[in-house]
Amino acid sequence: MAIKITEDCINCEACEPECPNNAIYAPEENWRFSDGTNMKDNTENQHLSDEFFYIVTDKCTECKGFNDEPACASVCPVDCCVPDEDNVENEAELLAKKDKLHL
Ligand code: SF4
Ligand code: SF4
Repeated sequence: MAIKITEDCINCEACEPECPNNAIYAPEENWRFSDGTNMKDNTENQHLSDEFFYIVTDKCTECKGFNDEPACASVCPVDCCVPDEDNVENEAELLAKKDKLHL
């Protein structure tokens, strides 16, 4: 399943450079599928949080294909990168998402 960031986030920025899919954005920063991926979709999408760092579900593969564990959760000092129970995906789905992002 995708990972999400909770409101316990202290905006330390540690997670953002660790994401292999560029799925993590700063508060008030708009996002694009093309950021840090091979996708052609350059549409600017409205930011999903104006208070905390946030993860774009459609870009998060739980680090499948890159790391054994979610990199964001590994570096977060307050353990606020947690499984998103509303976006459960199996390994095959996560790997297919990774391929879509990086073909
Ligand atoms: S789990 Fe991995 S892919 Fe998902 S947001 Fe965290 S670092 Fe990025
Ligand atoms: S590492 Fe944790 S506390 Fe720091 S910005 Fe990322 S989610 Fe927030």
